[in-house]
Amino acid sequence: SAKEAGRNAYQFFRDEMNLHAQHQLRMSSALRRALERDEFELHYQPQVSGADGRIVGYEALLRWESGVLGRVPPAEFIPVAEATGLILPIGEWVLRTAFAQQARWREDGEDTPRLAINISALQFRHEGFVAKLEQLLAGAGADPARIELEITESALMQGGGDMVERLQRLRRIGFTLALDDFGTGYSSLAYLKRFPIERLKIDRSFVRDLPDDPEDCAIADATLSLARDLGMEVVAEGVETEAQRSYLTARGCHVLQGYLFGRPQPARVAFDGPGDEARMAG
Ligand code: C2E
Ligand code: MG
Ligand code: MG
Ligand code: MG
Repeated sequence: SAKEAGRNAYQFFRDEMNLHAQHQLRMSSALRRALERDEFELHYQPQVSGADGRIVGYEALLRWESGVLGRVPPAEFIPVAEATGLILPIGEWVLRTAFAQQARWREDGEDTPRLAINISALQFRHEGFVAKLEQLLAGAGADPARIELEITESALMQGGGDMVERLQRLRRIGFTLALDDFGTGYSSLAYLKRFPIERLKIDRSFVRDLPDDPEDCAIADATLSLARDLGMEVVAEGVETEAQRSYLTARGCHVLQGYLFGRPQPARVAFDGPGDEARMAG
């Protein structure tokens, strides 16, 4: 009967809800212990110059190997970390670890790569964020001029009235700023002009079907010309094919990132791999 079907549908819905809620609950309790269990690691993905293919920087990407849940992708655990507020201590661990990496490069030589770090909306809005950054920077001895903070378009839009002021404080410390996932949110172009941002990162979803999809081509072209007019640079993410690379570089895209150039890798593989060992052995 219809009544029965309704009851079954309801039961199904309730079970699904429970499963989802249980999963979120298990994840947040595992996340709560992840820091003390040392379950996080940063991986580093190269960014190359569009002009000559040289590595100009790396993006730090968080990885979690949970003792109970196994490897969980950031797309699953970052939202839970944000909802529970755990992103604050986790984000601090990310900053501390990435700053230490930059400080190591700084000690090694002059021409250090730039290191891009993802900042969550909650972290960015948090009262003590700028002071915390200054404290961690001083503690690590890292060079802010070689550190790029990636803030998502939606974080910027949720940011409230003192957003421009806060971004300017970060610039005065010396950080560079990039707008991540550009094109996926609702950024007002009028705002963009007022924000002291150096780079726009074209989201992977708009790079995927280049150069065959006319809409993705239009979005990439428009982003590149907007950036040029506003005096910004563009980083394209998710570049996997030669055809994508040549489309973007032909149109002056400054920096490219994607599996074509390298996957995110742990520091020992990304920087201290066979190259160094070979050099030491030779
Ligand atoms: P995102 O900042 O936009 O990072 C780029 C994502 O694209 C990364 O996914 C990267 O592994 C992936 N990617 C790069 N090149 C390619 C490619 O050629 N093909 C494909 N299919 N994917 C590519 P990942 O590492 O899974 O991270 C997902 C998102 O999680 C990030 O997107 C970022 O929003 C968030 N995230 C990662 N680490 C952190 C962190 O330390 N803090 C915060 N707040 N968020 C983070
Ligand atoms: Mg990013
Ligand atoms: Mg991105
Ligand atoms: Mg993205």
